[in-house]
Amino acid sequence: MTAFWTEADYDDHELVQLVRDPASGLTAIIAIHSTHLGPAAGGTRFWHYAESKDAMRDALRLSRGMSYKNAMAGLPMGGGKAVILADEAKTKTPQMIHAFADAVERLGGRYVTAEDVGISEADMTLVAERTQYVSGLPVDGDDTAGGDPGPFTAMGIFHGIKAAVRHKLGKDSLEGVRIAIQGTGSVGGGVARLAAKEGAILTLSDINEDRAQELAEELGADTAAADAIMSVACDVFSPNALGATLDDEGIARLDCAIVAGGANNQLAREHHGPMLAERGILYAPDYVINAGGIISVTLEYLARNEGKPCDINEVRKGLAQIPGRLEEIWRESEASGVSPNRVADAMAQRLIGR
Ligand code: NAD
Repeated sequence: MTAFWTEADYDDHELVQLVRDPASGLTAIIAIHSTHLGPAAGGTRFWHYAESKDAMRDALRLSRGMSYKNAMAGLPMGGGKAVILADEAKTKTPQMIHAFADAVERLGGRYVTAEDVGISEADMTLVAERTQYVSGLPVDGDDTAGGDPGPFTAMGIFHGIKAAVRHKLGKDSLEGVRIAIQGTGSVGGGVARLAAKEGAILTLSDINEDRAQELAEELGADTAAADAIMSVACDVFSPNALGATLDDEGIARLDCAIVAGGANNQLAREHHGPMLAERGILYAPDYVINAGGIISVTLEYLARNEGKPCDINEVRKGLAQIPGRLEEIWRESEASGVSPNRVADAMAQRLIGR
């Protein structure tokens, strides 16, 4: 068996912990990539993996992505991520969530958790019963930020798509811009609603076809089958499902000018960034454009530690900085001939002292 630290995705992570609790049936991995800038922050994913090595790969890649994301968003946090290995039926119990929370607590604040795919606000409320190192908790009132980071992530992506459309197509509005959205969950659905409001022409796709269809009817959009969405002729392809859809085959199928969406780890491998550039497709690095959610949960966490509510305007200010960061990356990319993902990685690595 190959040791995991020799795997391509192991990047001198500070800690990779396997958590087992036979009583509740919990198996989880907590990966801390870097605490250079502060406690490692990143959500918990609850997912059924065909093989446990896929879960390890996700934990390693996603936690490194969080180091980069938090650094590029200017947050005083390092990068970490947890994955809970669900059974095929995705059985989730309060006992299992409590056992996971106890493991987070034992890390003494080196890792701060929040929602990711498969984990809800209600789950985080259970986590908060056992540890203080948690964010994304429900809040009261419209002026207070907190809770499900999905809507903030979607808002940041919407700003990012607008920046890409301005940069590549010279348009200040999404009116008449054709956007193909892969995944219509919390993030993709939010992006679709915001883009529709501005007059974008949408094609929606989800492996849960009813979900895509329902949203399409609400927004007057078209739908495409899950295996066809990457070939839809459009201005913007927006990946908002799970990662790694931009591989050799996926990139060859694209018929768009821009790739800008919220999925983590969109590029199957980092050389797929230059491949997009060679095809003349402008890429918005995933961890820069999808930072809205972590901006919200981090500001919520820091405010709670100071004993005050988190002002939603502070989060909005954070989201408004996403277009400027993307512009900086694209400008440097054009000046140097280095692809945007590599420019962003180099910036992020400098920020985390690597
Ligand atoms: P979600 O579970 O609410 O939605 C994901 C959707 O994608 C589901 O409807 C699912 O059926 C669909 N899907 C899965 N595979 C698909 C495929 N091959 N084709 C089409 N649809 C597919 O999750 P979410 O919170 O919306 O997150 C979406 C992505 O954004 C994930 O990669 C996540 O890591 C990333 N992300 C989320 C946040 C957040 O705040 N929620 C923040 C940053 C990044």
